[in-house]
Amino acid sequence: MPSRKFADGEVVRGRWPGSSLYYEVEILSHDSGSQLYTVKYKDGTELELKESDIKPLASFRQRKSGSTSSSPSRRRGNPSRSRSRSRSPGRRSPARRSPARRSPGRSPGRPPKSSHQPASAAHRADITEIRKEVLEVKLTPLVLKPFGNSISRYNGEPEHTERNDIPHKTPQEKFHLSQDSSYVSTQYSLRPRGEENKLKEIEFQEEEVITKGPASLRTFEVPAAQTKDLEFGGVPGVFLIMLGLPTFLFLLLLTCKQKEPSLLNFPPPLPALSGLWETRVFGAYLLWFFVQALFYLLPIGRVVEGTPVADGRRLKYRLNGFYAFLLTSAAVGAALWWGVDLHYVYRHFLQFALAALVFSVALSLYLYVRARRAPPSQLSPSSSGNVIYDFFIGRELNPRIGTFDLKYFCELRPGLIGWVVVNLVMLLAEMKFQNRATPSLAMILVNSFQFLYVVDALWNEEAVLTTMDITHDGFGFMLAFGDLVWVPFVYSLQAFYLVHHPHEVSWPVACFIIALKLCGYVVFRCANAQKNAFRKNPTDPRLAHLKTIHTSTGKNLLVSGWWGLVRHPNYLGDLIMALAWSLPCGFNHILPYFYVIYFAVLLVHREARDERQCRKKYGVAWDRYCQRVPYRILPYVY
Ligand code: NDP
Repeated sequence: MPSRKFADGEVVRGRWPGSSLYYEVEILSHDSGSQLYTVKYKDGTELELKESDIKPLASFRQRKSGSTSSSPSRRRGNPSRSRSRSRSPGRRSPARRSPARRSPGRSPGRPPKSSHQPASAAHRADITEIRKEVLEVKLTPLVLKPFGNSISRYNGEPEHTERNDIPHKTPQEKFHLSQDSSYVSTQYSLRPRGEENKLKEIEFQEEEVITKGPASLRTFEVPAAQTKDLEFGGVPGVFLIMLGLPTFLFLLLLTCKQKEPSLLNFPPPLPALSGLWETRVFGAYLLWFFVQALFYLLPIGRVVEGTPVADGRRLKYRLNGFYAFLLTSAAVGAALWWGVDLHYVYRHFLQFALAALVFSVALSLYLYVRARRAPPSQLSPSSSGNVIYDFFIGRELNPRIGTFDLKYFCELRPGLIGWVVVNLVMLLAEMKFQNRATPSLAMILVNSFQFLYVVDALWNEEAVLTTMDITHDGFGFMLAFGDLVWVPFVYSLQAFYLVHHPHEVSWPVACFIIALKLCGYVVFRCANAQKNAFRKNPTDPRLAHLKTIHTSTGKNLLVSGWWGLVRHPNYLGDLIMALAWSLPCGFNHILPYFYVIYFAVLLVHREARDERQCRKKYGVAWDRYCQRVPYRILPYVY
């Protein structure tokens, strides 16, 4: 029989769901089946909490000024970690804090400080007391939210919004809030302004005390929000993926250069290390990466906010990917004009792939090591605490060096822009090897289709901020390798194939392929644009005709328009486009179709991952959406 740690009637600290705040609670009961404790907060709210969300009072009381701590970060004396532990949702970063707001804001009617108490300790005692009062007031209205109570219902909802059949509970009934409810409290605060301001003032004072006061003034211990639900086959799965993908990459590239590039043939021998590694090539790769980083830092382009992160903040992102692309195009154009030999990239293609691989592994190591010191609120919800798994999936959600967001930068810059340059290199190589004055129609189609895809992604750069990559997955080997190696070296496979395997495309066939590409593009772009516009502003008048389902998180789901056709219309469009990229290569070999096959597998798996997350997030509302829109990607088929 599973044991329980806390007894009925025991007074402990319980974490408020979706936040890093702990309150005093009394244990009422324990359910041995679900392993949940029913606890009662001081204002009478009853909740069910996991054991990991409950801490003995003693673990907080020990943290007095000057006391020693068993926390490794404390022993390392890491100030950033200790500060962030006391962070509450919605707190602004110190850099943005107004000095005027730092005045001591003691509650009226509180007794003056005792003369024999040290000033900072008395001050802190006051703050803790006031903070507790305000936080307790904060509890009551927020708990109404998840059940669609009229006070908390999102008031910007379109008139034709459908309601969920979420059972309304009586105030006496206890309930369980998921971690995901944090989004509600961060997005739609229900506290009266006065209380909000009072709370902020108190928080500011507290942080000031923490900054200036004696060593340890942390109040709450925050556990890391890590998952036990491992994806990709868990630790053995990700281990095999990390070994398998780089191996497969070189197999593809070596096979593609063969006269008979059949994947069924015996794999071509791997060149000696001297033929795979060249330091000059690695230097050229580093130059490419850092020039892109320089373009990213240019103060041009709009700055926008991303979706709220775990502690309620919205990170800022500069949208200048398209400018970076223009600057890169100008630089490549100038290089060609001055006679720089781009054929160098083709001749050293394998070396460039290895350089990118080495760089992505080094970057992943750096990301993992720095993430060990990241505060729990900045960990990715997909991280698990396991070294191998977290190295792969990424431990930290949005690793930044100052304002430089490493994941956001890698998502769309070095790899994606690099893909266009690689395609151009292949086009020039085709003309050279096949003695052509102009590129073949097949090569022009492949180049222009993929060029359009990249330009579209950069033009609509803001859309990346609502993708799973940014909002859910951490930054680790999976994205570093995917963005920096897989995209430029595998997505360019059709162009690479055409260099040595010419294929003549007739104009009627070309027209059909172009129509297919445009059709895929319209589905892909319109579906993504519709969802992004809706997420940005659910009351956008241009979306007023669309039907939505209300969800308990305050966010709604579209059930008509593109998102009423299938549950992932954007994936459908993407797959149609992928097919159009491969068709110009003819049907002699499967290699140019590798991308479509791989992409279909990726998107089916990705759809299943997203489905799991959405079901967790939206519960019964997601089930209703699935009933209304039964097909996932392909209407009437899947
Ligand atoms: P999506 O852009 O499809 O985002 C999924 C999220 O959209 C869900 O988690 C949910 O988030 C929201 N959502 C789902 N259904 C609805 C609905 N009915 N109404 C409103 N919101 C809804 O996922 P991805 O990040 O996987 O893909 C983004 C794009 O990138 C796609 O076009 C995809 O094809 C492309 N892609 C390309 C790859 C490539 O290698 N070329 C690889 C992967 C993706 P919430 O409710 O929290 O907002």
